[in-house]
Amino acid sequence: MAAKAKVPSCIVCSKQLAGGPSEWPQFPFCSQRCKLVDLGRWFEESYTLPAGPRTAQEIVEEIEELEAKRLEQEPGEG
Ligand SMILES: [Zn+2]
Repeated sequence: MAAKAKVPSCIVCSKQLAGGPSEWPQFPFCSQRCKLVDLGRWFEESYTLPAGPRTAQEIVEEIEELEAKRLEQEPGEG
């Protein structure tokens, strides 16, 4: 009869993160992608570049490209 613990959810897509931070390396996001989406939104609000409008999606894709290149260059952990 234990009270049901409140399940945290991804702050981007609201997916339920059962198990909490120990189960979700990207907590409070469900995934790296949602983390990047949130970062992209933050970028969009913080840096309004006159060079041309960029959507959060474009920024996310750019970050993912950089991350992919970085992962190619570095040996994986484990
Ligand atoms: Zn999510």
